[in-house]
Amino acid sequence: MIIVKSLSEIRNKIIEIKSNHKKISLIPTMGNIHDGHLSLIRDAQNYDSIRIVTIFVNPLQFDNLNDLKNYPNTLEDDISFLQKEKVDYLYIPIRDEILSDIDNSKQLPWGFNNMLCGKMRTNHFNGVFAIVKKFFEIIEPTYVFFGEKDYQQTILIKYIIENYFDKIKMIVCPTIRNSYQLALSSRNSRISKISLSETSAIIQALKKTCIDYYLTTGLKDFKKLYLLNDVCRTQYVEIHDERLLHQKHGIKKISDITNNRRIFIATYIENIRLIDNQSLEEYDNL
Ligand code: AMP
Repeated sequence: MIIVKSLSEIRNKIIEIKSNHKKISLIPTMGNIHDGHLSLIRDAQNYDSIRIVTIFVNPLQFDNLNDLKNYPNTLEDDISFLQKEKVDYLYIPIRDEILSDIDNSKQLPWGFNNMLCGKMRTNHFNGVFAIVKKFFEIIEPTYVFFGEKDYQQTILIKYIIENYFDKIKMIVCPTIRNSYQLALSSRNSRISKISLSETSAIIQALKKTCIDYYLTTGLKDFKKLYLLNDVCRTQYVEIHDERLLHQKHGIKKISDITNNRRIFIATYIENIRLIDNQSLEEYDNL
């Protein structure tokens, strides 16, 4: 695995790869590599391409300075995981270089600032937009891999591809969960006081209660179901039709989007914000 840091170096590598007529698979991460990330990296192996992983904790997408400061940094372990996976290139951008002349003031469609995480985290998606677009420009990938765990983010990537890079193909990989069904996340490593198994059970119970309530009553006001719970401070539980959700985020090409209903959850456990989402159709079959 070749580790690249400077912009000039990565640009030279891309020129070299392209001159050999190779395709590129890009897997962007913020590091603290876990099995969720590895599933994306392994999936990319099915595409005849050079795999480039990026590790960059993007300060523009954090609305909370503490969250940014406490974001786990495990670079040495990350490098050895990625080496074992035989990733071709690891790009660790130099912060000032990647952030110079970046523009995160783009007016994104309504949903990105008024729904789900976009509503709760001011400018979050503007920050993701700016960095991902810059990565796509620099790395010129054919394939990009993102996790369904960050569902609203996958809508943003669709938006970027639809409007700026129509040749790029996004592969959305299913959410990897622990044995208690908790979605893996770098933030899980910060949960200490109550055990991970308890946390998982609480989130599962919350999800199940809200889905059962919705399927029984047809109502989507879940606040009364979670406000009484003082173990986790829940920010939102919402159910949306996937197609409609995409439309609210300005996506035009919706013909290949299934019209499933999907539940979205954001909850704080010990002040650590965890998110999850799941298709109801998938849930019905559990
Ligand atoms: P992050 O490092 O959290 O920015 O995540 C990098 C990529 O890995 C994003 O596309 C995430 O959606 C994806 N990812 C994170 N956690 C999981 C998971 N549990 N299952 C599948 N993909 C994940």
